[in-house]
Amino acid sequence: MIRSMPVMPERPRGPFAPREEYQARTGSSYGLLPLRFLSLEDGRYLLTNLVGEHLVLPRSTLRQLVGHQLPMNATAYHDLKSKHFIMDGDSTVGLDLLAAKYRTKQSLLPNLTSLFMLVTTLRCDHACRYCQVSHRGQAEPGVDMSRATADHAIEFMFASPSPAIKVEFQGGESLLHFDLVKHIVEEAEKANEDAGKDLQFVIATNLSALSDGMLEFCSAHDIFISTSLDGPRDLHNKNRPKIGGDSHEDVVRGIRRVREALGPYKVSALMTTTRESLSCPRQIVDEYVRQGFSSVFLRSLNPYGAAAGPGFVDDYSIEEWLVFYKEALAYIIELNRGGLFFREEFAALLLRKMLTPYPTGYVDLQSPAGIGIAGIVVNYDGTVYASDESRMLAEMGDKTFALGDVATDTYEDIIGSDKLHGILAATMTEGMPECHDCACQPYCGSDPVRHYRTQGDMVGFKPSSEFCKKTLGVTTHLVRLLQDDPGAADILAQWAQ
Ligand code: SF4
Ligand code: SF4
Repeated sequence: MIRSMPVMPERPRGPFAPREEYQARTGSSYGLLPLRFLSLEDGRYLLTNLVGEHLVLPRSTLRQLVGHQLPMNATAYHDLKSKHFIMDGDSTVGLDLLAAKYRTKQSLLPNLTSLFMLVTTLRCDHACRYCQVSHRGQAEPGVDMSRATADHAIEFMFASPSPAIKVEFQGGESLLHFDLVKHIVEEAEKANEDAGKDLQFVIATNLSALSDGMLEFCSAHDIFISTSLDGPRDLHNKNRPKIGGDSHEDVVRGIRRVREALGPYKVSALMTTTRESLSCPRQIVDEYVRQGFSSVFLRSLNPYGAAAGPGFVDDYSIEEWLVFYKEALAYIIELNRGGLFFREEFAALLLRKMLTPYPTGYVDLQSPAGIGIAGIVVNYDGTVYASDESRMLAEMGDKTFALGDVATDTYEDIIGSDKLHGILAATMTEGMPECHDCACQPYCGSDPVRHYRTQGDMVGFKPSSEFCKKTLGVTTHLVRLLQDDPGAADILAQWAQ
């Protein structure tokens, strides 16, 4: 049974039930507010409302609820009312509160783009087995961003109405083109003297080319560092080989130097799961703890660049990744029970959506997707792409998600373009097949680039979508933990804050 927002009266077909479905019926004390439900396959159902508040109910109670037969003195009645699943009496307070919460959840939308990823160069000194950006050799010509393109990119960024702008330098390896990084930082700071935005810089780097001079510059301009750490030495070096060097040693030494020069919280790290990672979830978590991090983001592989090549196609299934993920999560919870505060970031993002009224701003988990409107990429040649994955796809020869060029197109041209709007229309999960009646919809998003790449269609066929299986698998696992393990629930609730 499908229950969703009654936006139009008497809509005979389509995903929305008629308005009357939600109104109090004769002999019933309550009307239904929009809700979705999903079987947890153990006789219980997950119920979510428009803003992601959730309850778990036995099937019998759910049947009573949707049949308008739940008595007011039933245990679940109060919870259903306070979490805006039902509304009784003549008061519209419940509906008004729900509307206010919905506005809060969508409050970042009007700000438009706040994240600008600038690809300063595609050159790199590593040869990561899964390199998704199709990096080039250190001496390759023609893949560095020019100063003229950088200046256009700065003008482009400051045309965004967002009060906050985060500039993320992406590669290749950004430190191999550090003069341009410096130029962009200095020029953006000058532009910001008039604009007065909350301006932040992040350099994504493998840290191997880090010098004292770079650290001094980063310290003077309050720059954050984002690096990659795949796990203990053997695993990291196998995944991320450096030509003629030890990439694990480089990254560990680099992390230490950044902390000494910039402060303890100025460096974060990301990991990517390969087939080799699947057998060592605990060792990966232990490495993050050993290197002084308070969290890890367990990421699965995306099928672009080398990760889409012969050595990686179908490297592992999402079901195998979920086994790995759950084992790692169980271990992290065990560490927390022992007194260490350490969290898993993908779970934390979902938990924030489940347990707080606030938006996360995470591009991949929102409707419409944040591509273009929350985050956008300026490639080394000035081409504007809707997302990081879009430019990865372009390096594979498919420029479907190219939106324009900073030299010739304004921010308004691109954000107002039919092309971007067409892509975004394919990411509105509220009306999308499968998603519109899925209880995970308030927590989920869409990945039009990946669906286009793997299924030839931006919306995608959800029953065979890895993106769908991953979100569904992690979300229902978290729901079960919140429901069945009070100790774990307390820990997970802390991660959401
Ligand atoms: S993943 Fe990053 S560090 Fe590794 S080869 Fe590609 S661009 Fe270089
Ligand atoms: S992608 Fe899958 S999990 Fe996400 S809302 Fe759609 S159907 Fe649900």
